[in-house]
Amino acid sequence: MSEPQGGADPTQFRCMAVEDGDDFVINGEKWFSSNARFASFLIVMAVTDPDASAHGRASMIVVPTDTPGVEIIRNVGVGDEPPGHGTHAYVRYTDVRVPKQNLLGPRGQGFAVAQTRLGGGRVHHAMRTVGQIKRAFDMMCQRALSRTTKGEMLADKQMVQEKIADSWIEMEAFRLLVLRTAWRIDQFNDYLKVRKDIAAIKTMMPKVYHDVVSRCIQIHGALGVSNELPLSGMLMGSYVMGIADGPTEVHKVTIARQVLRDYEASETLFPDYTLPNRRAAALALLGHEIEREVEAW
Ligand SMILES: Cc1cc2nc3c(=O)[nH]c(=O)nc-3n(C[C@H](O)[C@H](O)[C@H](O)COP(=O)(O)OP(=O)(O)OC[C@H]3O[C@@H](n4cnc5c(N)ncnc54)[C@H](O)[C@@H]3O)c2cc1C
Repeated sequence: MSEPQGGADPTQFRCMAVEDGDDFVINGEKWFSSNARFASFLIVMAVTDPDASAHGRASMIVVPTDTPGVEIIRNVGVGDEPPGHGTHAYVRYTDVRVPKQNLLGPRGQGFAVAQTRLGGGRVHHAMRTVGQIKRAFDMMCQRALSRTTKGEMLADKQMVQEKIADSWIEMEAFRLLVLRTAWRIDQFNDYLKVRKDIAAIKTMMPKVYHDVVSRCIQIHGALGVSNELPLSGMLMGSYVMGIADGPTEVHKVTIARQVLRDYEASETLFPDYTLPNRRAAALALLGHEIEREVEAW
């Protein structure tokens, strides 16, 4: 999907697939196509219907990697991966011809296909991240119980205890939200009904991952930042989780929009939950009862 000029906003994608007889001819560039260098085929989101609505312009097309015109310009790495070891390809498609039957899903429904795939993918990211967070948490706890300074264990120092307590709370809250989201997917079997839940775990994931790993690094001192532990890579991994499959900001917008669908605007100048309005509503509902009570007194 992603292109060099923009990833978070798919309406900006420019890669085109034009019909020619029984084929599509694809021209454009894609960016951060993970594992393209190992793949025997690529799934390209290309504009097939430029005059359609913003979300009905693109289609998904399967392109065998050895098709003439497919060129991996370079493989980009993450963090300090050495040059040449990267797995995220910058790919150029020049007059790439594939049969129309390579269309994946309905024409013009590239967004819908992508959202379905990305929905499940985000849950998998979250599940794997639960494991990574637990790994960092276990290291932190073992280190706190193993290291002594100023006559007592790290585990006995309150500022260390705070790190362990905060990490455990955040880890468990995240784990349970992921579990609940997976359960709701099973219940509805419809990703549209769990968009808010998936966006929520996608949003929570980088923060909890980052915060727990950061505390783990701090408690390990020099060893924490050394290349003898996996923590610096995990820290970069937390940033990846806030970007890949859509940045956190975009997912927060999704959550807010979905949440607000369950609410309505107030029809009165002051909201109906203010005391004067609640009193008026109570009198309208039960005024006769109150009058009877007052008379009886
Ligand atoms: C490790 C990794 C693997 C990836 N693999 C793939 C892949 O296999 N296939 C693929 O297609 N893509 C892949 N991507 C790309 C990924 O989907 C994009 O990086 C992502 O959608 C963001 O696009 P961008 O990098 O162009 O950032 P931009 O769109 O330029 O956004 C940059 C920043 O701007 C801010 N921003 C963007 N939109 C908004 C908004 N609406 N409101 C507020 N702030 C905003 C955010 O802070 C965001 O991080 C991968 C990315 C990473 C890091």
